[in-house]
Amino acid sequence: MRITMIGSGYVGLVSGACFADFGHDVICVDKDEGKIAALKAGRMPIYEPGLESLVATNVAAGRLTFTTDLAASVAGADAIFIAVGTPSRRGDGHADLSYVFAATEEIAAAVTGPTVVVTKSTVPVGTGDKVEAILREKRPEIDVAVVSNPEFLREGAAIGDFKRPDRIVIGTDDEAARKVMRGVYRPLYLNESPILFTGRRTSELIKYAANAFLATKITFINEIADLCEAVGANVQDVSRGIGLDNRIGAKFLHAGPGYGGSCFPKDTLALLKTAEDFESPVHIVEAVVKVNDSRKRAMGRKVLHALGDAPKGKTVALLGLTFKPNTDDMRDAPSIAIAQALSDAGVTVRAYDPEGMEAAERMMPELAFCKDAYEAATGADAVVIVTEWDAFRALDLPKLASIMAAPVLVDLRNVYRRDEVEGAGFAYTAVGR
Ligand code: NAD
Repeated sequence: MRITMIGSGYVGLVSGACFADFGHDVICVDKDEGKIAALKAGRMPIYEPGLESLVATNVAAGRLTFTTDLAASVAGADAIFIAVGTPSRRGDGHADLSYVFAATEEIAAAVTGPTVVVTKSTVPVGTGDKVEAILREKRPEIDVAVVSNPEFLREGAAIGDFKRPDRIVIGTDDEAARKVMRGVYRPLYLNESPILFTGRRTSELIKYAANAFLATKITFINEIADLCEAVGANVQDVSRGIGLDNRIGAKFLHAGPGYGGSCFPKDTLALLKTAEDFESPVHIVEAVVKVNDSRKRAMGRKVLHALGDAPKGKTVALLGLTFKPNTDDMRDAPSIAIAQALSDAGVTVRAYDPEGMEAAERMMPELAFCKDAYEAATGADAVVIVTEWDAFRALDLPKLASIMAAPVLVDLRNVYRRDEVEGAGFAYTAVGR
């Protein structure tokens, strides 16, 4: 089949490369000329494990191409995916749909024959109706079905997630469009990934409900972690003790500095706005957003506390800046609020991240960026593990202690064992234990 992917970011590029790997002919489009030039030269504009070789293989096989020319790319496509960004709208937290609608207008101007337009971007309930209305108004003579097909991949594990999803959700009542979508995903359901066909609005809401539920799980265990600290219990044992119950499940029960990233913060907010618009409040999600917001800065205070009475003038090394390991994505990372809280208290912040430094330097130019964990720790009064990259799981603790001004380790991801760290002479602070 011929697939056009509009937007070649974390979702569009991975989805496009995976579709090509299934044997489809895929054109990935982006209006960012730098991104397309890099891709044409074989360079990845993002860090995602396995992506470079997947792209190279499929480009070499002639199934994957890149362009900035949206109009030319949609001609003759069986399915046109919209995978552009839907960030929080400045000021009110609604999803900003301007990129989705701009892409729709461009599709409407260029489409040449019957096709299926698929919103892969995370979009609020009713967006598919608006996309359809634009296409109908601009091109009433062409038969275009609009389908919702939200994406559930995780950055850092995106290719595996895309190729072996827990489920594929397809929202449309149009039988011909379902047939096209079955064709698109055929290689997957042969591997037994279930396809769930729903109405379009239901499909749109499934994505937000899924993210809000996962954000709730994280926030729940974070509050239980605070309670553990207050009562002298161990949150890791609590997580295990509840997570072994199949009704609860072990995933997303790791206490930490609060959720961040390019999806949970904006998607929980957008869900609140939808709920507000439809006068059907989601109080649990409201609480989740509020608790998570205050948590990030609270983690800054936790670090200040570990520094002792007079943190001003001290130096802290942050290890890990991205919102999770194995990505270079810095959007809404907890490290940003933590670094800000530390700077506000007069603390000098040194930092290192294996892949996120370029993006982090753009967002926080005031930090001192270092070449590895040990350079960051040199002369520091505390080292803080913010993101649990593998590179920070087996630090040489005696070496670290010897180069720091004071051996203090704040482990916001509960990577280390207390006895091991204290045995190396550190004062150790963890989360919820
Ligand atoms: P991104 O910012 O990495 O990529 C979006 C790309 O779209 C950019 O490269 C941008 O230049 C391009 N673009 C915007 N308008 C365009 C246009 N008119 N024509 C061509 N290209 C255009 O965003 P992302 O992280 O890939 O997210 C995309 C969508 O997928 C969002 O709705 C997001 O919520 C959703 N999503 C993201 C993830 C994730 O982990 N990143 C997971 C699931 C769903």
